[in-house]
Amino acid sequence: MAVDDIETKEPETAAVPKTAAVPKTAAEPMPGGKRAYLKVMSKAAPDSMIKGFLKRIFFVEILQGMALTMSYMFKKPVTKQYPKEKRVSLPGFRGMHALVRKPLTRRARCVGCGLCAAMCPSKCITIYTSEGKTHEKVVDRYEVETLRCLFCGLCVEACPFQAIVLTGHFEYASASKESFLLTKDKLMDNWDKYMTHEKGKHYFKNFWAPRNDHFSPQGEQAVFKGKRTS
Ligand code: SF4
Ligand code: SF4
Repeated sequence: MAVDDIETKEPETAAVPKTAAVPKTAAEPMPGGKRAYLKVMSKAAPDSMIKGFLKRIFFVEILQGMALTMSYMFKKPVTKQYPKEKRVSLPGFRGMHALVRKPLTRRARCVGCGLCAAMCPSKCITIYTSEGKTHEKVVDRYEVETLRCLFCGLCVEACPFQAIVLTGHFEYASASKESFLLTKDKLMDNWDKYMTHEKGKHYFKNFWAPRNDHFSPQGEQAVFKGKRTS
């Protein structure tokens, strides 16, 4: 027997079954051994190479990308050109704080109980109170350090008198740190500017609980009587 015959004769185990699956990872053994792997590769490679070559010479992917870009030229843009185009904040948005004014007396509704400050996770509310002529508590100073505020809204939730709100105002960037300290006067001005009339009522009715009617009696010390379900 010639030497060439011995080298070219394939062992029976090298035959590739028609249904043999091509391994998905390099670690899996190839059915039929190395030669069978080369046979499979030599069949698959020309197709993909030709496709890739055609794609490159006809700039298919570039044209697809350009078509996608062009398709957006005829759609309405969603990007707002801020600050030229202002975005109106949705009701219930948690923006800058405000202290609620009583409509008749125009004084702050806050009684200085300190619940909001106790609830505040970042401890950015400071309240200074004193005793009034008729032994009532007077709120001398009410301050919010907005740079530390998380806008979580817990102060609003905690207040039994609905005396503090988060307004829809969010444009208060400044280079001065002092402007971020909201004093009682600034907070009450914010109520006048951003939350008066129906806006304030809508805010309390739709976005915050418990509400006024969950407490009894209204006025002095509020007592929570449970949230109504109907
Ligand atoms: S919104 Fe949250 S972090 Fe900000 S003052 Fe109120 S409780 Fe504090
Ligand atoms: S919880 Fe309400 S009433 Fe009490 S101090 Fe805070 S804002 Fe004022």
